[in-house]
Amino acid sequence: MPHPRRILILLSIVVQGCVPASASSPTPTATPPIPTATLTPSPIPPAPETPSPTQAPIPPQPISRVFIVTFDGLRPDAIEAAEMENVKALMQSGAYTMNAQTVVPSATLPAHASLVTGTCPAKHIARWNEYVPQNGYALGVDIFDLTRAVGLRTVLVTGKEKLRQITEPGSTDFFGFVDNTDEEKDETTLENMALEQIRQGFGLMMAHFPDGDIAGHEFDWMSKQQLSAFHKKDASFGSFLKAMKNSGYYDGTLFIITADHGGHNSNHGTRLPEDMTIPWIVSGPQIVPGELQTPVYIYDTAPTVAFALGLPLQPEWDGAPVYEAFGLPVDPLRNGECPGVTP
Ligand SMILES: [Zn+2]
Repeated sequence: MPHPRRILILLSIVVQGCVPASASSPTPTATPPIPTATLTPSPIPPAPETPSPTQAPIPPQPISRVFIVTFDGLRPDAIEAAEMENVKALMQSGAYTMNAQTVVPSATLPAHASLVTGTCPAKHIARWNEYVPQNGYALGVDIFDLTRAVGLRTVLVTGKEKLRQITEPGSTDFFGFVDNTDEEKDETTLENMALEQIRQGFGLMMAHFPDGDIAGHEFDWMSKQQLSAFHKKDASFGSFLKAMKNSGYYDGTLFIITADHGGHNSNHGTRLPEDMTIPWIVSGPQIVPGELQTPVYIYDTAPTVAFALGLPLQPEWDGAPVYEAFGLPVDPLRNGECPGVTP
């Protein structure tokens, strides 16, 4: 049972938005003040247990599944420049930061491995960035392992074969790779593959769009060709959202939208802010909308998924759940940076 004062604090927040608990009054006729931009995290328990006799809080909607979408090479400033309206809509309904950080090297395979394993490259060791089957798979208990262990279906659909190496084949119920670098018709296949997986249902699905990265290497980061590629993939993402709604899976889904790295000129992989800085967006049940104030790292993604699905956090994880997105207190002293990242 939460302490009665905690309940009072919670209720005051539910009823009056951002009024400090000490100043709150349960008078039903009180005019709610205009919320301010700064919201101090409060010690709210995740699930209110005791409804008030006068103003029952709405119980949190359960999170039944998680859908992660990675736009390869997406710099935060490309979202606006490429008019990615579906991503922007999720940003507005969710919690987000345009200043999340990826790992060193800021490259596709190491970054996606950190995303799913919750660890820095020093632990998962997948620092290579080509498909090298003899190297095996990223080490550690990853979020596909944990999700599958509780009987939920796991799906990974990707445009780069090397992402097979971020998790073992036995960790994904479905792994689909479509090479859309050579023929136009393959683009449809990647989308159709993902749409079919959505229809089948899942506990955890990750879809990876390679197109913006490919265009960046050919035409430069933030070129009109790259922005066009991101714009098209945003439309594909929109078709996924529509399929989720049509299949009855939209409600109860936590969406996480992010990237593996940014880029500059025609490349990435360095410690430059243009390469390291990525968007990180979470939207869905229990999420408190707004811009995140605390630092977010790509390897916080797996712990956030675990927290959302009620799966055990792993002691070896370098990442931590992005509690702020759920309106929960965060450790102000946390230094989540991978060792050696800052020169
Ligand atoms: Zn990449």
